[in-house]
Amino acid sequence: MSNSSIKTDVLIIGSGIAGLFAALKISEFADVVLVTKKDKNESNTNYAQGGIASVISKNDSFDKHIQDTLIAGAGLCNEKMVRIMVEEGPERIKDLIEIGTNFSKKEGHLDLALEGGHSEPRIVHAKDLTGKEIESALVTKVNSLKNIKVIENTIAIDLITEHNIKQLRASTLQNRTCWGAYVLDVKSGSVIKISSKATLLATGGVGQVYQHTTNPQIATGDGIAMSYRAGAKLANMEFIQFHPTSLYKKSSEFFGEQSFLISEAVRGFGGKLLTRNGFEFMSKYDERKELAPRDIVARAIDSELKKSGEEFVLLDITHKNSDEIKSHFPNIYEHCLKLGVDITKDPIPVVPAAHYSCGGVKVDEFARTSLKGLYACGEVTMTGVHGANRLASNSLLEAVVFADRVALDLKMFLKEQQDIFSEIPDWDDSGTLTADENVLISHNYKEVKTTMWDYVSIVRSNQRLERAAKRIHIIYEEVEDFYKRTKVFSELLELRNLVACAHIIIKSALQRKESRGLHFTLDYPDLSENAEDTIIQNVNP
Ligand SMILES: Cc1cc2nc3c(=O)[nH]c(=O)nc-3n(C[C@H](O)[C@H](O)[C@H](O)COP(=O)(O)OP(=O)(O)OC[C@H]3O[C@@H](n4cnc5c(N)ncnc54)[C@H](O)[C@@H]3O)c2cc1C
Repeated sequence: MSNSSIKTDVLIIGSGIAGLFAALKISEFADVVLVTKKDKNESNTNYAQGGIASVISKNDSFDKHIQDTLIAGAGLCNEKMVRIMVEEGPERIKDLIEIGTNFSKKEGHLDLALEGGHSEPRIVHAKDLTGKEIESALVTKVNSLKNIKVIENTIAIDLITEHNIKQLRASTLQNRTCWGAYVLDVKSGSVIKISSKATLLATGGVGQVYQHTTNPQIATGDGIAMSYRAGAKLANMEFIQFHPTSLYKKSSEFFGEQSFLISEAVRGFGGKLLTRNGFEFMSKYDERKELAPRDIVARAIDSELKKSGEEFVLLDITHKNSDEIKSHFPNIYEHCLKLGVDITKDPIPVVPAAHYSCGGVKVDEFARTSLKGLYACGEVTMTGVHGANRLASNSLLEAVVFADRVALDLKMFLKEQQDIFSEIPDWDDSGTLTADENVLISHNYKEVKTTMWDYVSIVRSNQRLERAAKRIHIIYEEVEDFYKRTKVFSELLELRNLVACAHIIIKSALQRKESRGLHFTLDYPDLSENAEDTIIQNVNP
């Protein structure tokens, strides 16, 4: 049994844009402990290339950005939340610049790029390494502040609520409160109890649940799984965005690896999609061709690949000036060149990959979840701004806008909150053994990812979803049994979370009896009349 413990005002889980930005804002009035799985920089944020959307240009307007977002969201966006995100965006961009983010400029002004689905150039970016630039500015600022304690290589296992406390276990879900989390110090293997007056989940997305993904290894949906286990409401988890263009690699290299993204901006810059025989095909699918929203482009590629039996299509930018290509896309240019593709001379082989989760933990306009004291922001959430499909570059924007709002609400909440509940038990792992057969982990990890790719990806059907549900249920039982008998370690925790997320995605997909935005099913190919969110809640946590 471990009895190591920490007490703090606010516990933040995750050090991507959402967690770090919130930490800075909250540190103005409270102490923060921030735990993160690996080192501080390792996050989806660090890999964001294209940029962050915001109304900056005089030719642009809030209404245009709102309209573009609503159109991409296919009738399921929450307009009030979209308005909040769009209208508060320019102030948050100023905040990012103030803390030292060095965005690209043209003639002394922010250089605004155009991306698919946007009616105006409004993508603020730092060449094609926007996420890295933002992440590094945030980390530098956070490191300089004494009342933010960052603990790296520490993975949150589960949230602490009444379900961890024997005498309170029977309390109703409506009265549930979160008092922090149990976390694993990955290096020592010991479990720490972190008690907090408020907890913020900023754990990012779930891309690793799929075989092909642009997300790094950290994206195992931990926040979604922990919230589910604690009884918080989740919404719209069927809407997984597949990026149409990741650099093609042979399948055998994919497990646990991340596919390299060929940014939307390459198509915005004039990149053409071609079959391997050199035929342009996007005009068959949408009049906006390569600039159509991602779901349309991903389905078009999927359909061309299914027809031809090929494993990739081509993205051709060779007709553009080679110096301009290198200056706009230095990172993509260098990465492809290392793999033998000179993008100024050769078309790029591309394939879709799981990229972004539009659904997540359901939150309100101040990022409050359905559990008292539990907040969430960034990709782990469902704020309602993305609806059934996210508009490119709106996710970094959503993260900073709602991270700021967490701080606004916490200022009041912390004043009202009584002392942290004093009888939270320590982590009890008596009777468990150290794992001696990790083949279960690696085997099941692969099986979850291939099952989700084969049956629950771009084109779905009831039969495919039910097939996947059966397989995931068997893996769930094996993993839970292993979890109960074994001392926790990070691969086991991540697998447990991936299986929970797979179950939630399939359940949400089966609930939606229509095709809308990112969810396309052969059994219900049309839109239903009522646009509703799918809600998933574990009512017996
Ligand atoms: C390749 C790529 C390109 C993208 N390009 C763009 C773009 O141009 N524009 C845009 O708007 N969006 C883009 N996105 C999406 C965007 O980057 C993400 O949605 C956003 O960065 C998510 O930020 P976040 O802070 O919510 O999560 P993340 O940045 O993923 O951070 C999550 C953090 O939580 C930590 N964590 C997770 N689980 C645990 C746990 N159990 N315990 C402790 N810590 C944990 C992780 O280690 C990490 O620090 C891109 C995504 C990818 C993958």
